[in-house]
Amino acid sequence: MGPLSKLLKIQELELVLKESAIVHSDKDLETDELQKQIDTLKEGVPERLMKHFDRVKKNGLGITQELDGRCKACHMSIPVGNLSRINNGSDEPKCPSCHVFIFTSGFTEEN
Ligand SMILES: [Zn+2]
Repeated sequence: MGPLSKLLKIQELELVLKESAIVHSDKDLETDELQKQIDTLKEGVPERLMKHFDRVKKNGLGITQELDGRCKACHMSIPVGNLSRINNGSDEPKCPSCHVFIFTSGFTEEN
């Protein structure tokens, strides 16, 4: 799993963690297990990426996906040039409008 896939997973688990904390406030075991999974995933993400992720996450999402040339977080269309640079790895995988990490449909992560 590449760092972007890990970030997606982290975000997903953090959401589950948040929700389970609201739903069952007495089930500490479950949340402990989730937190452990999150921490393990974080270890595999370079610190620089993790910092950006945490920073943009304050406004909502840390990572999102591209759908039909648009960012699913801010719904702005991503210029074709940016998309192709992200896909071929010459640009950082970030939305040019809202700066969250973006997992584009044409991007495949090397393991
Ligand atoms: Zn965006």
